[in-house]
Amino acid sequence: MTKTHTLTPEQLQANWMPFTCNRQYKADPRLVVGADRMHFTLSDGRQLLDGIAGLWCCNAGHNRPRIVEAIQKQVATLDYSPAFQMGHPLQFELAERLANMVPGDLNKVFFTNSGSESCETALKMAIAYHNARGEGNRTKLIGREKGYHGVNFGGLSVGGMSANRKMFGNLLNGVDHMRHTHGIEANLFSKGIPEHGVELAEDLVRLCELHDPSTIAAVIVEPLAGSAGVLLPPKGYLERLRQICDQHGILLIFDEVITGFGRMGAPFATEYFGIEPDIICTAKGLANGVIPMGAVIVQDKIYDAFMHGPKDMVEFFHGYTFSGNPMACAAAMGTLDTYEEEGLLTRGAELSDYWQDAAHSLADLSLVKDIRNIGLIAGIELHPTPATPSKRVFTAFLKAYEAGLLIRTTGDTIALSPPLIIEKSQIDFAFSTLREIIKSLD
Ligand code: PMP
Repeated sequence: MTKTHTLTPEQLQANWMPFTCNRQYKADPRLVVGADRMHFTLSDGRQLLDGIAGLWCCNAGHNRPRIVEAIQKQVATLDYSPAFQMGHPLQFELAERLANMVPGDLNKVFFTNSGSESCETALKMAIAYHNARGEGNRTKLIGREKGYHGVNFGGLSVGGMSANRKMFGNLLNGVDHMRHTHGIEANLFSKGIPEHGVELAEDLVRLCELHDPSTIAAVIVEPLAGSAGVLLPPKGYLERLRQICDQHGILLIFDEVITGFGRMGAPFATEYFGIEPDIICTAKGLANGVIPMGAVIVQDKIYDAFMHGPKDMVEFFHGYTFSGNPMACAAAMGTLDTYEEEGLLTRGAELSDYWQDAAHSLADLSLVKDIRNIGLIAGIELHPTPATPSKRVFTAFLKAYEAGLLIRTTGDTIALSPPLIIEKSQIDFAFSTLREIIKSLD
C-alpha cells in the first residue's frame, strides 16, 4: 500500500519519544494517521484494531460525535479560562457530575491534566490534610512493589516498577512499599478475582509496626495494577487494607487511572469492590484520551479540613495552569454523555463471560504461563526467556501490529483492554490473532 505520510530523518530525530526504544523505532517507524471507533488508520492505509483503548484511555472508542461536537463548540465559545481565582461554569458542572458517579462521601473534585498529576496531587493532599488537622508528623507514604502511579517524583517514589525508578536516584524520603500480589502459584489461570493471597495485606501491619502508624499519611494502590501486567487483588485484600487504614487514621488512595470509567465492568473499581477509599485518582478514560485531563475525587472530610483558616487565604497551595481547562471539561462532558447513552460503564460486565472464555482459550499454549482477566481487561503472561525476558513479548507486539491488532506489552505480559464498544467478532479476531502469534513464538 502507498504511504500517506512520510517523515524526514530530521523530523524523526527531533522528537524524543516517551517510553520508547527511540533508536529501534526510528529505524522502522510506525505512524498512526487516523482513528474511528475501534480502529486506527496507519500511514500505509492499513487498519489496526485497537486492543488497548489507545493506552487504556479511549474507552468510548475513537472519533465519537458527542465528544467531537462538544470540543468544537467549546473552542468557539471559551477556549481558556484563567485557572486561579476564576472559574467557568462547565468545570463546576463536571465536578458535580463526577461526584455523583462515585459512592459515599467522595464529593469533592480537584482537576489535573494526567494520571501522574492526579497521583502527585493526591499524595500532597494527604500530607497537607493531616497537617491541616494538627498531625504534621504524618508524612510517610506507603506504596506497593510493581505499583505504577505515573512518572513524577512522588508517584515514582511510591510506585514499584524498578525499571522506571532506577535512573533517577534516591527519590522521595519517607516512602515504603508493601509486597506485590503477583505470581502466587495457586492463583495461576484464575478467572476474575483470585482466591489466594489476602495475607499479603498484612504487610501494611508490618510497616505500621516498623514506622509507627501515627507517622503514616497515606497508602496508595491501584485496585488492579495495569501497567505491571494486569495484576488483580486477591479476594479480601483491598477490604483488609481499608480496615488497617481505618484502624490507624491512614488515608487510603485508590489509583483508578486505569480502572475508572468502566474498565472492570462497573463505573469504578470502588463500586466493583464495594470499598470506599478516601481519595480516588482518575485520568485516562475521563476525557476518553482526547484531551489530557485528570481528576482527584476526595471525601468531604478532606476538603473540609482545609476550610478552617482565615477566609481570604488560599487553602491548598497546589494547582495547574490547565486545571479544569474548558476544552478538557467539554471533552469529559461529551465522554460521560457517550458512556451514559451507550451504557458503556457496565458493558464490560455484560461481555465479561465472553471475554473471559476468549482469553482463557489461550491457556493450552505451551508458552502461556498465566492468564488474568476481569471486565474488559486481560493479561496473558508468557514464560520468561532467561536472557532477555521482554524481547519475546515485544516480538509479539510487532507481529500483532503486522496482523492488524494493537496490543500492549509489559514485562512478560501481553495486555488487552479495548474500547468498551468492542463487538464479539472483534474479540474473536483479537484472541485468534494472538493465538497464532504466540504459537509462532514457540
Ligand atoms: N496511574 C496509573 C494506575 C496508570 O496506569 C497511569 C498510566 N498508565 C498513571 C498513573 C499515569 O498516567 P499518565 O500517563 O496520564 O500521567
